Amino acid sequence: MTQELHIIGGGMAGSEAAWQAANMGVNVVIHEMRPQVETFAHRTGHLAEMVCSNSFRSDDDEQNAVGLLHWEMRAANGLIMATADKHRLPAGGALAVDRDPFAQSVTETLLALPSVRVEYGEITELPTDGHWIIATGPLTSAGLGAAIQAETGAERLAFFDAIAPIVYADSIDMDIAWMQSRYDKGETEEEQKAYLNCPMTKDQHEAFIDALLAADKTEFHEGETAGYFDGCLPIEVMAERGRETLRHGPMKPVGLTNAHKPDEKAYAVVQLRRDNALGTLYNIVGFQTKMKYGAQNEVFRMIPGLENASFARLGGIHRNTFINSPTLLDNQMRLKSRPNIRFAGQVTGVEGYVESAAMGLLAGRLAAAEILGKSMETAPLNTAMGALVHHITGGAEAKTFQPMNVNFGLFQPVDGLKGGRRGRKDRYKAYTDRAKGEWQSWLETYS
Ligand SMILES: Cc1cc2nc3c(=O)[nH]c(=O)nc-3n(C[C@H](O)[C@H](O)[C@H](O)COP(=O)(O)OP(=O)(O)OC[C@H]3O[C@@H](n4cnc5c(N)ncnc54)[C@H](O)[C@@H]3O)c2cc1C
Repeated sequence: MTQELHIIGGGMAGSEAAWQAANMGVNVVIHEMRPQVETFAHRTGHLAEMVCSNSFRSDDDEQNAVGLLHWEMRAANGLIMATADKHRLPAGGALAVDRDPFAQSVTETLLALPSVRVEYGEITELPTDGHWIIATGPLTSAGLGAAIQAETGAERLAFFDAIAPIVYADSIDMDIAWMQSRYDKGETEEEQKAYLNCPMTKDQHEAFIDALLAADKTEFHEGETAGYFDGCLPIEVMAERGRETLRHGPMKPVGLTNAHKPDEKAYAVVQLRRDNALGTLYNIVGFQTKMKYGAQNEVFRMIPGLENASFARLGGIHRNTFINSPTLLDNQMRLKSRPNIRFAGQVTGVEGYVESAAMGLLAGRLAAAEILGKSMETAPLNTAMGALVHHITGGAEAKTFQPMNVNFGLFQPVDGLKGGRRGRKDRYKAYTDRAKGEWQSWLETYS
């Protein structure tokens, strides 16, 4: 008699996990609280609802990490990808999806399987026995959030995601900016030059603060009442507290000498920190913001050196419940303190529809294998799936753990290839070729 797999949350991750486990011959119960209990972002009672944009991002499986993840999920007979392909909309190189038919189709496909049923209603306790996957996403209900917190400790569950904008390094004007850590801190030259600095005169600073105060801001749905974390205040909230507040915080000019004009003391300095191992991305330090995307593009380009900046990701603050996976989960995605429970999806600290579905795919397969008494290794490190699961279950720094999109910075280098911008195309192609080979053999081993 096959044991059942219970999945809490029928979103991107839960739906994919259910499909994968059912295809391996396991009976599945999805526990979904909608439509009985709603979230502020979902609109329907469908499984796998896309709450905001309708994009699965780049579909380029040779030069883009998320495109590679698409490829791996298709190769693994992924339901989310197959349904997205069926409801694809024209969007250049991106995979855009007709959201309502997409969610409806995922729901119908799962409900048509005799081995899958959905029980509607909120789960508020951690299950003590049986095989479970928690895939309740960024808007995990308060009741279940409290139960997770009681198990893991308050500091291991975050409720907000504060994102500073990320800039492509090759769009920064290095005739204005320079590399230096504050007070040249660090043992090696690399550490002493770890930050990229953009200097401002008094006039530039005043104009910047004016623009910040005047910019369009988004309303922060639920969090306003909850207040902000210390150290995670939006920059415009800091500026509202006083025009000089930022100059005493993330924009302080001390301990820095302008390499281009050593005799000129900057009135304020905006610092950017390397965001990936390759050095292709930099985040603006301490610049989490509620400004609307259009306003961010305008205001941040007022920063000297960033006039032509192109942004890999703009800033934001939103409700996002996620656990400290690097300390709490093993590489099979099981909660170390209660191995009968796995976590999957955005609640594990990955970010985005595709990444969440990918973690559901893996968790569904791992859980089903365990139920069937078969051994299954986690995804190989050199695949997109493996790079992501490795990052959240151990590779990431636990103390500063923040949600992560899949990106090539998570991949082990391929030997013998050129570094820097010049070798980028070859490098990405080598990563994706290697990943495809390893993913195929993993799938064959555990088919
Ligand atoms: C406001 C907002 C905007 C976003 N915009 C984007 C975007 O544009 N692009 C993007 O890629 N990602 C976006 N995300 C992130 C996106 O939500 C996730 O990438 C993706 O939906 C996560 O998949 P998931 O399966 O982990 O969670 P979800 O898809 O959210 O699914 C979780 C499910 O669990 C259910 N649930 C929660 N608690 C319980 C409980 N206690 N009992 C039973 N069921 C429960 C929920 O109803 C939900 O159906 C956004 C998130 C938010 C909050």
